[in-house]
Amino acid sequence: MKVYIETYGCALNRSDEALMRESITGKGHVLVNDPGDADAIIINTCTVRLDTEYHMVKRIRELYKLSMEAGKKLIVAGCMARAQPYTVSRIAPGASLLSPQNSPRVVEVLEAPGRVVMINGVRARDRIGVYVENRVAPIPVQEGCLSNCSFCISRHARRVLVSHSIDAVVKAVGKAVRDGAVEVQLTGMDLGTYGMDLYRARRLPDLIRRIVENVRGNYMLRVGMINPEHLRHILEDLVKVVADAENVYKFLHIPLQSGSNRVLKLMRRNYTVEEYLEMVDRVKSSIPEVSIATDIIVGHPMESEEDFAETLRVIEEAGFERVHLAGYSMRPLTCSAAMQQLPTSVRKERVLKALRVVEKVGMRVRARYVGTSVRCFITEHTGTWVCRLTNYIPVVIRGGAGSTLDYGKWVEVLVEEATFFDLRGRLP
Ligand code: SF4
Repeated sequence: MKVYIETYGCALNRSDEALMRESITGKGHVLVNDPGDADAIIINTCTVRLDTEYHMVKRIRELYKLSMEAGKKLIVAGCMARAQPYTVSRIAPGASLLSPQNSPRVVEVLEAPGRVVMINGVRARDRIGVYVENRVAPIPVQEGCLSNCSFCISRHARRVLVSHSIDAVVKAVGKAVRDGAVEVQLTGMDLGTYGMDLYRARRLPDLIRRIVENVRGNYMLRVGMINPEHLRHILEDLVKVVADAENVYKFLHIPLQSGSNRVLKLMRRNYTVEEYLEMVDRVKSSIPEVSIATDIIVGHPMESEEDFAETLRVIEEAGFERVHLAGYSMRPLTCSAAMQQLPTSVRKERVLKALRVVEKVGMRVRARYVGTSVRCFITEHTGTWVCRLTNYIPVVIRGGAGSTLDYGKWVEVLVEEATFFDLRGRLP
């Protein structure tokens, strides 16, 4: 059978695609790059925001039409299949459904004569889909979430906590490095919960330690998102391992979501702004030059002008290196969807206002590097070489063409300019 796969969304979905590819080719089927050439089409969906959902619906309709006209099988996989099976069945009634957790079983759906709905079940532990793209390898170490945020739909798609064992993750990282990865990203829905299901303890710091002790090679490790609710339990151990390990980026992604305690309560985030800032202070005082990324949602239902102003104030004062800013997006199956919504115009206006503050802070934080010489690690080539400081800030290298630069090299760069996204400079 010739099979075409199209994937949307985050690293977890990409890893599920890797699992599907492995199963499909393992059974002698062939992957193709054009849906027109395929006997079966798989769309691996994401549903994190309303605009993503609209895009998915449009694409599923197109592929369904193609599959109906040409007698091809259509499989809707990924988060939408699990969280919104009724929506998918309404727009593509003949399509099969495959939840993220069942990705390794894709061949059963492919080879079945008719429509199959496989959306229940829990992820198999220790089956990790490894892929390396542009020398970067995201490695999922856990799936599932123990929190209950009122705005989030993803937990309906990937609810149950399944941590892969330390041994399995070490093996997956080793494979990625042997396959050429110079940057390994530990990913998951909340790395702070890593191990709670398997070891009855939060074991992220141990996991990092075991990786750096056992996987030799020329790579840097980036630690993914950690909910503050769980971070507080591993904070001391985590800052120690991140500060000590040479090949771990001095970078942490700790989502704040709102600078207002009232909104945090509405969002059911189990921490206060003060507790969050205390953790950030502790991280900063323990890891020199650390950079912290955060997520902020503005325009959540019932967010007042004062709440919004508090969020802006925290963004200014905390001096985050990177802010993933999003306007609130109403999602089905969530409590926030049942709350009094703000008018669209207010939400849009707040996103624009917040964006200006985020840009200003980003510029301020990065400007301190201008005129200095920095040591950085080359991880990307997008027309020009791009390297990362040990705290993960990217530096675009000007005029590096024709030099001996390569992936995985450490270089000194003289920083000439700071932008909102990155630094730019030259080899001395
Ligand atoms: S986990 Fe969230 S971001 Fe990732 S594919 Fe699913 S809905 Fe999209």
